[in-house]
Amino acid sequence: MFKKILIANRGEIACRIMATAKRMGLKTVAVYSDADSEALHVRLADEAVRIGPAKASESYLNIPRIVATCKETGAEAVHPGYGFLSENEDFAAAVEAAGIVFIGPPPAAIASLGDKIAAKKIAQQAGVSTVPGNLDTADHVEKAMAAAREIGYPVMIKAAAGGGGKGMRIAQSDAELREGFRLAASEAQSAFGDDRVFIEKYIASPRHIEIQILADAHGNAIHFGERECSIQRRHQKVIEEAPSPFLDEKTRAAMGAQAVALAKAAGYRSAGTVEFIVDQKRKFYFLEMNTRLQVEHPATELVTGYDLVELMIRIAAGEKLRVTQKDVKLSGSAIEARLYAEDPRRNFMPSIGRLTRYRPPRGDGIRIDSGVEEGAEISIYYDPMIAKLIGSGATREEAAARLAGALDAFVIRGVSHNIGFLSAIIGRPKFREGKLSTDFIVEEFPGGFKGEALPPEIAAQAVAVAAAAQRIASERDAAIAGAAIPEAWVIVQGEARSRVRLARRNESIIVTGYTANQEMETKTGWQPGDPLFQGTINGRATLFQIERAGIGWRLERGGAVLELKVLPPAAAEALARMPPKAAADLSRHLVSPMPGLLVSLAVAEGQEVKAGEELAVIEAMKMENVLRAERDGTIKKLCARPGDSLAVDQIILEFA
Ligand code: ADP
Repeated sequence: MFKKILIANRGEIACRIMATAKRMGLKTVAVYSDADSEALHVRLADEAVRIGPAKASESYLNIPRIVATCKETGAEAVHPGYGFLSENEDFAAAVEAAGIVFIGPPPAAIASLGDKIAAKKIAQQAGVSTVPGNLDTADHVEKAMAAAREIGYPVMIKAAAGGGGKGMRIAQSDAELREGFRLAASEAQSAFGDDRVFIEKYIASPRHIEIQILADAHGNAIHFGERECSIQRRHQKVIEEAPSPFLDEKTRAAMGAQAVALAKAAGYRSAGTVEFIVDQKRKFYFLEMNTRLQVEHPATELVTGYDLVELMIRIAAGEKLRVTQKDVKLSGSAIEARLYAEDPRRNFMPSIGRLTRYRPPRGDGIRIDSGVEEGAEISIYYDPMIAKLIGSGATREEAAARLAGALDAFVIRGVSHNIGFLSAIIGRPKFREGKLSTDFIVEEFPGGFKGEALPPEIAAQAVAVAAAAQRIASERDAAIAGAAIPEAWVIVQGEARSRVRLARRNESIIVTGYTANQEMETKTGWQPGDPLFQGTINGRATLFQIERAGIGWRLERGGAVLELKVLPPAAAEALARMPPKAAADLSRHLVSPMPGLLVSLAVAEGQEVKAGEELAVIEAMKMENVLRAERDGTIKKLCARPGDSLAVDQIILEFA
């Protein structure tokens, strides 16, 4: 076994790998860029080495620098995590050429399986069921069209080098195929430097189900069951779970056997994932193989009891797999949610900034894989994932309930995040019934995410919580100022007003008058400033995220946000008499929808623009976002210059 390994990655996955290495008694070396000098993975490692500036191309993707760091520190092996260099055959080859062990597959397997066309060919030869298609359409649109007609529309146009959902287009007709072919090829060229595309049948409303495999260097290969990853947004996974609520033993065994056959045919070693799409009749088709540890691997660990990182390290050290296929048993259920710094209510715009508060929940059946702490910065340079939250239990219902509870209790402030959206997904009846498909999100949230409505009894709890919070805050003010606290209050929620009485009785706060003939009795240890309100209402446990919002309270839970004001009657009357606030006329301005860098301005002062024309490009989270004119107009004034850092809602230009 090795004595020291280097982790060529950052964030949660670097921390995750180090945890196992430490448990195995191995020393760890972290590498970091200038943006990460204070990062958690740097502090958790036994040694840490700076490898370059913030830009990934000059640090986490710098092959010679990372190989040199292995030599300098005496690391005998390197784990690449996922993303960055994990599926780069040149990196694996460079590591091996330097006499260091790559904790992953052989470079040749990365190369052949990384190309979707080559991988499909290997799969077909290995007897794996593949999506009907034509692999020989790479170079010519006429050929692609002939193939599409033969396969039958709709078809999927896919980049051979694709990944991350890029270079993929659906075509329903010859006209769409012509356009899609051109777009997919040019997207693939700019993203991967390779414009080859191919055509396959588009499988309607499929489920994405993948098989985790492990192979050693002694010819042994086994699978660890499946993960279902059908909850996707733009072909990217959002929620993953193991086992799939859809598979039966027979299908699982058949998919597992094919995945193992493919691994053997490709000369595979280490952990890998064979991805399939499965139609409503449980017919399954190979999509691609991912030659690395995946983001969603914890779901498999929780239902099988194996540490996949440990097995990868042991295999890399030349050990034989001690686990046999018979040993692998799936028990219980695990569901993972990916927490991102993004704003689901603003079309999932990435969000950056400092985590002013970060308090992950704890509890039975809750696992959190995270690479951040309170005070950490979510920067524009890397993936905006904050953490992975995995709920597990004896049944799928229990896993889902634990995950939902943990999402409600997860405190994150300082950046926008997608917790409300994740809660909304987990709370939908279709999710609870296991009726999943890759169209789940577009079907369940057709106009985007606008926030959930709370069931009436939970909405009533929110009133009790806001009232108790107001009473506690007033008691604190009264203790300082020596004033009396009134008993009559008005709850203001949008246009709705309810007169209530608020009183203290020993440890409890009592609201009367809100629900007919019933008191709401709240007990809590909450203090002003706590981001989480926990307590009981009429003896039942309750929990809300809570924040001061002007003169009111903002409560959040289960994907719902409620704004409530609890005011003395005179203040409520004064509020009612106030004219509605004139909204700032933002239609005359182009504002930055996210914090980022102004890359370019496409217009000049005095210029006329038509609706849809490009106005500016903003870079945030490695992505360029084009801002376009919403209607025709004339540019009056430019208020920012290329190269400027923009805050959210900062004015970029003014229309006449
Ligand atoms: P990438 O490598 O970019 O992640 P994949 O081939 O793994 O691309 O596909 C990603 C997702 O795209 C799948 O999980 C599925 O939702 C969808 N998809 C891919 N191919 C098809 C197809 N032929 N029919 C329907 N959906 C597909």
